[in-house]
Amino acid sequence: MTHPRYDRSMRLFGAEGQTKLSNTRVLVAGVSGLGTPLIQHLALLGVREIVHLDPEELDETNRNRLVAAWEVDAIPGTPKVLLAHRMIKLLNASVISSPLQVNLLSKEAFEAAKRVDWVFGCFDHDGPRAVLTELCAAYAKPYIDLASDVPEPGVYGGRVCVAYGGQGCLDCLDQLDRRAVRRYFMSEEHRGQEDAVYGIDRELLDEKGPSVSPINGVIASLAAMEFMSGVTGLRAPTRLQEYRGWQSKVYVDNTPPRANCLQCEGTWGKGERADLERFLR
Ligand SMILES: [Zn+2]
Repeated sequence: MTHPRYDRSMRLFGAEGQTKLSNTRVLVAGVSGLGTPLIQHLALLGVREIVHLDPEELDETNRNRLVAAWEVDAIPGTPKVLLAHRMIKLLNASVISSPLQVNLLSKEAFEAAKRVDWVFGCFDHDGPRAVLTELCAAYAKPYIDLASDVPEPGVYGGRVCVAYGGQGCLDCLDQLDRRAVRRYFMSEEHRGQEDAVYGIDRELLDEKGPSVSPINGVIASLAAMEFMSGVTGLRAPTRLQEYRGWQSKVYVDNTPPRANCLQCEGTWGKGERADLERFLR
């Protein structure tokens, strides 16, 4: 690998590192505030292929954070994956861009996850995070989950979790709200029944919280750093780190994963024998 395009990158991680990146296929699930800055990094790093999926079209409220969206892009009528596709091809034509305008809970999405080397989750809900955690465990794929988080006024940041090797995931690192995950898979009717019995928990309502470009940008960069470090062999990826924007700090969380994790021990490497069909809608 002597391509001058990557000269300054190879000065960090060598020609071997670049060759590894250039042979790596990734899936980015969720192409919005976190997904688009992440895809920008992946295209510039020169991975082999970026499969990117999102069923949604661009809307006016996305324009504060979608780095791939331009003023000329029509609303309605512009799928987010087409914006990402254009960005990839304009940044680095040698990267294969495979847009999928589908929901995560689809056969196409699951097949995509199976055929890539690394998977990224860029969602704002624990439901799809739980699905990708299990899917990636079943097929023994490294899974990087990105989250921006503004839990209360004055507190803002996010976290990046890298699950790999069956030695720690969102589940056993206690990063999933089980009630939110359960609710994600309920029918509208079932949700109503639960609310009637337990009362409405405001934290579980799907209200849209704050989402701003600099926070998303930091989280996307931290995720791209862990990916780059892991693939090129600069160092092992950091399992869990938290960005506390309100304190200008990044914390590494070294809490050991919970033992007997259903994903890391039960599902890991099971492939077709894991019961993933139950997620498909
Ligand atoms: Zn686990």
